[in-house]
Amino acid sequence: MSSLQLEASGTSESTDNSSSQTPNRRAPIWEYYEPELVRIDGALKAICKYCGTKLIANRKSGTNSLRTHIAEYCPKVPSDDRNRFVATMKKKPDGPFTFNKHRSRDLMIAWIVRADVAFNKFDDEGFEPWMESLQPTFSGIGRQTIRNDCVAKFERAKIELRSELQSLSSRICFTSDLWTSNQKLGYLCVIAHYIGPDFVLKKKIIAFKDVKYPHTGVAIEEAITTILTDYGIKEKMFTITLDNAANNKTACDLLQESGKQDMLFGGEHLLVRCCAHILTFLCKTV
Ligand SMILES: [Zn+2]
Repeated sequence: MSSLQLEASGTSESTDNSSSQTPNRRAPIWEYYEPELVRIDGALKAICKYCGTKLIANRKSGTNSLRTHIAEYCPKVPSDDRNRFVATMKKKPDGPFTFNKHRSRDLMIAWIVRADVAFNKFDDEGFEPWMESLQPTFSGIGRQTIRNDCVAKFERAKIELRSELQSLSSRICFTSDLWTSNQKLGYLCVIAHYIGPDFVLKKKIIAFKDVKYPHTGVAIEEAITTILTDYGIKEKMFTITLDNAANNKTACDLLQESGKQDMLFGGEHLLVRCCAHILTFLCKTV
């Protein structure tokens, strides 16, 4: 048998289909290889029907190299056979496809939020014909619908986050900062840092809201208290890291005063002065 010819001098070769290493040959790839495997220097190999190349074929190695050989490298496989095989490699759906409008809407919103897509893109005249070409019943989705869906998704995510934070058995550290936009509007951001039940450190932005001028200590304290009360986590507060500014110190003193009884050490260590902010100032003054 030609397949039993030695690959090189000093190697030993024999047919072998009985070993426990013999791969299970039900996959479509096996019809492109000789029915019998050969053992060369102890390794089981399959022989390409077209070019005679011998490739490792045991249970451990899988069929990746056998498939790649036929799909890409075999110099003698007829193109019809190669195309037929490549078609079998493509993933087939588990069953007939059923369009689910709600699932599509949900996935679309997730993409819009992730990719930061502007709502007005959905009023573009090219959008609807494109959607209709994919799924004729998926129409009538304009800017307003998308906006409402995004807000609804935000509300659902907030409820989930609120319940996650409330169920924590540990305390929560916060960081917060204020900015003024180029429209002269003041924004306050609050981030919660906590260790989840799986002992993984997490950080979540729990609020990003406008705060009216002037940004006094009282205004900052009021805004932070409103946010923490909304989430029902004020008594879980451990520390808050803020820029080293006088209004932040006042805000912290007020927070400590109102929540002393719930805080560790009566809130003595509540304020953490932002190290990066102090370093920035040092660099500016030096
Ligand atoms: Zn081949």
